[in-house]
Formats: sequence, C-alpha cells, structure tokens
Amino acid sequence: MTFYLKPPRGLVNLHVFQTCVEERLNCYDNINRNNNADAEICNFHCLVEDSPLDRTGHYLFRLYAYLSTDFRRIFLENEKKLLLLRLLCYKKEDIKYFLKRLLKHSKECVTQDNVHVTVKDMYLLFISLCSQMLNREYLNHIIKEVHVGSECEGFTLKVPFYQCASLIVHREVNLKNGFVEIKCTDWKRLFLSVYETYLRRALTEMKYSQNVRLAVNDVRIRSTFKVIQNHWFKNEGSENDSRLNFNISNIDAESKLFPLCALNLYKVLQKTNRLSHNDRFDFSLYMKGIGISLRDSLKFWENTYTRQHSSCSKCSHNWKDNEKRYIYGIRHLYGLEGSRKNYTVRSCNFFQEKILSATEDGGCPFKHFDDSNLRQVLQKLLPSKEDDVEVMIYERKENPSLACKLFYENVFKIITDNCIADNISFSNPVEYYLSLKKHISKNSIDSAIQAVGPVAVGEK
Ligand code: SF4
Repeated sequence: MTFYLKPPRGLVNLHVFQTCVEERLNCYDNINRNNNADAEICNFHCLVEDSPLDRTGHYLFRLYAYLSTDFRRIFLENEKKLLLLRLLCYKKEDIKYFLKRLLKHSKECVTQDNVHVTVKDMYLLFISLCSQMLNREYLNHIIKEVHVGSECEGFTLKVPFYQCASLIVHREVNLKNGFVEIKCTDWKRLFLSVYETYLRRALTEMKYSQNVRLAVNDVRIRSTFKVIQNHWFKNEGSENDSRLNFNISNIDAESKLFPLCALNLYKVLQKTNRLSHNDRFDFSLYMKGIGISLRDSLKFWENTYTRQHSSCSKCSHNWKDNEKRYIYGIRHLYGLEGSRKNYTVRSCNFFQEKILSATEDGGCPFKHFDDSNLRQVLQKLLPSKEDDVEVMIYERKENPSLACKLFYENVFKIITDNCIADNISFSNPVEYYLSLKKHISKNSIDSAIQAVGPVAVGEK
C-alpha cells in the first residue's frame, strides 16, 4: 500500500532513522536525474514498498513538509513521482494487491475517532474507488495489454472535482455536474491526483495533532530534519547562479575589485564580524548579484556570525541562537521564501540618497564619508596616486558617481598597468564589479595576444 495511510509502528534505532532519510533523499535525486529510475530505487532497502522503514522515511519527510512550506512542494512532487514509478512497475497481481491493501487500510482508518472530516472524506473516496476497481470485470479490463495507451472508454469512474483538483487545474478531464469522469485508461493519473489531495489534506490537519507537536520538538527527529535541510540547501545552491559562479574562497582576492561601498562593508565585517540589519541585507544582495551561490552565502554568514563579535560591533546576535531567522532571511533574498520575489542589489542613487542611522556603515562612501576619512581610505587603496585621490575628493561633492568612476579607472590601471580605453558605465555596485572584472580579463587576453605578436601568413 503506497498511500501511507498508516504511520509506522515499533522501535527504530536512531542511525536507522538517519539512513531512512538519506536513502529517501537519494531516491528523490535519482528520480529527478533519471527518467528510468525504477532500477535505482530497488537498491534502497529503506524504500521497500510499504515496509516499516519505507513508512518511517515517508512520515519523517511528512513531518518536515508540515514545518517547511518550501519543502512541502518538493515532498509532494517527489512522493507523486515515487508513486508513479511504483504503479508503472505493477503487474496484474500487484495492482490487485495494491487495491486490496488500500481498501483495507482505508476501512481501518475511516473508523478512527480522531480523523478530521476532510481526511475522512478521502478515505471514503478510496473505499469507493477500490471497491469499483476490484470488480472482476473492471480489473480484467484495465490490465489488458491492448488497453495500454488506448483511448478506451469501456469503464468510467466518477469522482467529485474537489478531490482530484490537480486534474481539473490542468484541464485534463471532462467535468459533468461537479463530477470528474475518468476513463479506464486514466486510472493511474486519477490515483496520483487523489494521492496528492490526500497528502495535502493530511498535512493541513497535522496542526491539530498533539503527537505531531511532540514529534517535531523531539531532538532526535530534529536532527534528521537537519539532514534534509542541508541536502536541500546544497542542491538548490548548486542550481542557482551557475551564470556567474563566484568562488567564495577567492573573496579576499576578489575584494580588490569591489566598489568602495561593498569593500567598506566587507572590511567592517572582517573587523567586527557583524553588520547592522540593513547593511547585512545590502551586502547579501551584493553577494548574490556577483554570483555567490545560496549555499556559499549561508556558509559565509554562518562562519562570520559564529565568531565572537568585536566590542565595537553594532550587533551582538550570533548564528547559533538566530540560525533559523538568518537562514530564512538569506533564502528570502534568493527568492526561496515568502513572496519569492527576485531581489536585486539597490542602485547607486539609492545608496547616495540614503540617510544613515547611527548603527549603519553602508551608503556610498563617495557621498557619506567625510574628506579626511575618504582621503585616508583612498590613499591606502591607491598608493602613489595622491593627485587622483584629491580629484576624487573634489568631484564627489558634486557627483559621487563620477568620483567612483575615477576610482574604477585607477584600480584598473594599478592592476593592469594600462589605461582603460572603453567608456565605462554602471548604475549599481554589482554592475561596477562585473564591468571591472570583464575589462580586466579582456585586457589580459589583449596583452597575451600582443605578447605573442602578429602571426605571419602561412606561419604555423
Ligand atoms: S557610486 Fe555606486 S558603486 Fe560606487 S561606491 Fe557609490 S554606491 Fe558604490
């Protein structure tokens, strides 16, 4: 019975618990990697269909899906795929066994006292469907070889539309008087749909259960959630940002190419291990913009906020006590929580117009630093460029972005020993970094070509 109507019973060792979770995660990976994953899932002993370990893994995942709305989506998708794989492997006797078990378990569950009416509704539907399908004529009909892929309408099942909502959403079926008519060829699709409805309802009703509350607070169960969370972050992080792919271990070297606003926040962070809330928001978005993956970003903030904050830092929070909040905040910026908005770094204009509070270090240094502070910072970064530094300090009063452009040109010159030939333009700190990086690599290619010299015609 693959609908997991009944939770597992008996005792399970903690290490087996972990194995159940790991194998199910690997199974999800295999299903998504390989369209023909039936052979792969056979290798997992914790996924032997309807075994106590299979149910343990499913119910642990269900608990985590109850807590995390994002994981809920992954859970529902993959459990449906797993069910489909199993249904596709069934032979005649397996289908009969599957229907009989589902009927038996539904009858047992529907009589329980504490079942919520919406879930009970699903048990009654399963009883009705299985009873009709176990009819010898129907069963013989659906397992006939000629039946596969045909548009046969020999038998039709009728199901209230709200119990197979996913079929309605995709307009895959006929709707008549509030009932969906399912042709006998579509019985597997019907089961996938009603299974999804059942899981959604079961997840919603979990909030009323005292046992669920106890379970999600159990330290052993929470430790398995960590395994799911880490695996999930790892995969999502690697999917994102393949476009830019910033190697976080090079951040110190790369910071030489950061605009002064981002470099300033990075230096404050290195010195105090903390940033104010708004500065952390801006620096996180900058990191995202230059191509740092979610996984690397989480690691970066965890490493930094696990260190002791310095006496002059404006924030004394630490990672351990606020982990959930920090993870949520960073995932939110990557569009994986809440409104799933795709946040991008704010513009130079915004930073320049910003009125900084006493706790903030952000903004645009060409606008917010006083002359002596800015001079000190620039002289350190651009040694032996005193005149250029004074021009920047003069220009920034009228036009901070122009001063930043001069800074860009000087950094380029120091790194490449060349003057920049192109006209540069940027409207936010990420564009600044990406443009400078592009021009430096273009320059090194040009220099390499020049070093080789012109190749004569016919020369090998
Ligand atoms: S002009 Fe823009 S990129 Fe340059 S320091 Fe100011 S905010 Fe940053």
